[in-house]
Amino acid sequence: GAMPGWDRVEALAVQAHARYASNADGHVADYIPGLAAADPELFGLAVGEIDGSVHGAGACETLFSIQSISKAFVYAMVCDAVGHGVIKDRVGVNNTGLSFNSVIAVELNNGHPMNPMVNAGAIATTALVPGATPAEQWEVIRTGLSRFAGRQLELDGEIYHSEMRTNQRNRAIAQLLESYGRIDIDPSDAVDTYTRQCSLRVSARDLAVMGATLADGGVNPVTGERVVSDQVCRDTLAVLASTGMYERSGEWLFEIGLPAKSGVSGGIVAIAPGKGAIGTFSPLLDSAGNSVRGQLATAYLSRALGLNIFASA
Ligand code: GLU
Repeated sequence: GAMPGWDRVEALAVQAHARYASNADGHVADYIPGLAAADPELFGLAVGEIDGSVHGAGACETLFSIQSISKAFVYAMVCDAVGHGVIKDRVGVNNTGLSFNSVIAVELNNGHPMNPMVNAGAIATTALVPGATPAEQWEVIRTGLSRFAGRQLELDGEIYHSEMRTNQRNRAIAQLLESYGRIDIDPSDAVDTYTRQCSLRVSARDLAVMGATLADGGVNPVTGERVVSDQVCRDTLAVLASTGMYERSGEWLFEIGLPAKSGVSGGIVAIAPGKGAIGTFSPLLDSAGNSVRGQLATAYLSRALGLNIFASA
């Protein structure tokens, strides 16, 4: 393994879990009714290395809807399909500095989404997924994310329907994007497919393998399958470093030094290029929408394993 002290990782994963399991700070997201029912006690994590081994602790097999973390992997798939220049032009690569579901961010930039890791940019990215119909696009996404995970991912129907009943704001964002000529498909279809991608069920273990695939230059280290190109991994990790952790992206990079993506259901994936990835799940979130236990455990593991990408040794 390329990770120093990697033989100790099993013990460190267990330690990271034990250290923060009793921390009950934060709140479960409730703006999607289906998410409010999450058990606040749940806490699981896994570390995946690029040689294919995965070390889990706690509720690392518990399934939850992937939510915004899907944005990172759909982005990678679309980069692979349309190329570096097109995605940079159409969706952008800069942080908006505004909340993930901001309508103002779209208005302020003449309809340019700017950031693929917030809803406007993610919906514009989903609209670029290859496929002649929404059903075909959805199949491409489900198959693609499943390749990252190394197993067939399933839709959480309850979460999907719950969000479809309450996602008026995302519909507004998609219609705004259409009005600016930023998406070429029906905005309701774009939102529907985006909501489905957010409702795919994953575990912390899946996140570790998905992240390790990005760390491994696009080859899933468990299945050996090439999922995206090496260039796409660089592009995706650069975007995650600057935009992956909502309005705390700068703070996160400063403290932890790893490209990462979080979601409102409580997942975080953090990637150490050429080494591996950490997947965490705990539904209690801070005010920016990042899992409290997940951030603490990732910081601990990043330090203990020496993963900060800015460290010279
Ligand atoms: N599906 C959620 C939404 O669009 C994802 C939000 C998130 O995880 O940040 O509101």
